[in-house]
Amino acid sequence: MGKKSRRTLYLERSKSYVAAVWNGWTVPDGRFAPSPSAPLHVGNLRTALAAWLFARHDQARFTLRIEDLDRERCSSRYEASQIDDLARIGLDWDGEVVRQSQRTELYRDALDRLVADGRVYPCWCTRAEVRAASSAPHGPLPEGAYAGTCRELTTSQRAHLQRSERPNALRLDARGEEITFEDRYCGEVSTAVDDFVLWRADQTPAYNLAVVVDDSDQEIGEVVRGADLLDTTARQLLVARLLGYETPLYAHIPLVLGADGNRLAKRHGSVTLSDLALLGRSESDVLSWIATSLGLAERGEIVTPKGLVARFEPDQMPLEPSVFS
Ligand code: GLU
Repeated sequence: MGKKSRRTLYLERSKSYVAAVWNGWTVPDGRFAPSPSAPLHVGNLRTALAAWLFARHDQARFTLRIEDLDRERCSSRYEASQIDDLARIGLDWDGEVVRQSQRTELYRDALDRLVADGRVYPCWCTRAEVRAASSAPHGPLPEGAYAGTCRELTTSQRAHLQRSERPNALRLDARGEEITFEDRYCGEVSTAVDDFVLWRADQTPAYNLAVVVDDSDQEIGEVVRGADLLDTTARQLLVARLLGYETPLYAHIPLVLGADGNRLAKRHGSVTLSDLALLGRSESDVLSWIATSLGLAERGEIVTPKGLVARFEPDQMPLEPSVFS
């Protein structure tokens, strides 16, 4: 995509953004949005630093958003450790930390608008039923896509299920729409969107709804996140379009791998700041490794995030995966 800055890309995309710049408002924001379901590992910290550098390089705001909607998996203990670890490697953020668990009303309003537009239906399928139905091929949808079982229910079947005790999720009637977008690093992506869950059966908003509402509400200009989330983007862009939101740009960055070539995870051993501290590796050593893997430092060079801002160039991002061992 050449040497265009995020500001230029956004200018090309958005007339209202032109007005914003004209009026001297700031460039669109960046964010890091971890789920506090485990401590951050080196790969997560690397994504956080990259997202921070994207924003700071453009003198933009940077928000920390805690995606804690999954009450079973998330805990305040992990949230505290994540915030602490981000600060320990020298990252900062503007304003208060935002927690999705405190923003349910915003997500409910967005859901209500989709309901009013006739784009939502209840779904009683269990996980096993979704899996069984999705293994059969169904048109252009990607593997594992929801087969639309509950969309096809008759009125009486639906009424019967509604009377039962079985809790239901709410799904988007995506109508198999195909979404095409340009990712800064992955190029053009084109996917048909399945009827994914907007509101879970446990009555919590689903990630793919909440993330769209937040990225719009927080005026995120370019979503910088791990490449594992590339597949969620078409879903999010469809929701954004249906809600009439300005959409952000996307930059999915390659993940850090363990020595076995799989995505870095806890089972790879010492992968968090506290694990590594026990091996005598300070946060400054970890930051140095991350900066080197981003092509911003010499091996072993001691750096600070602020010192890296001037060296950072989004187009120089190494696209081959980094291996941490
Ligand atoms: N909360 C998501 C995660 O930790 C990231 C969401 C996003 O960056 O869009 O995987």
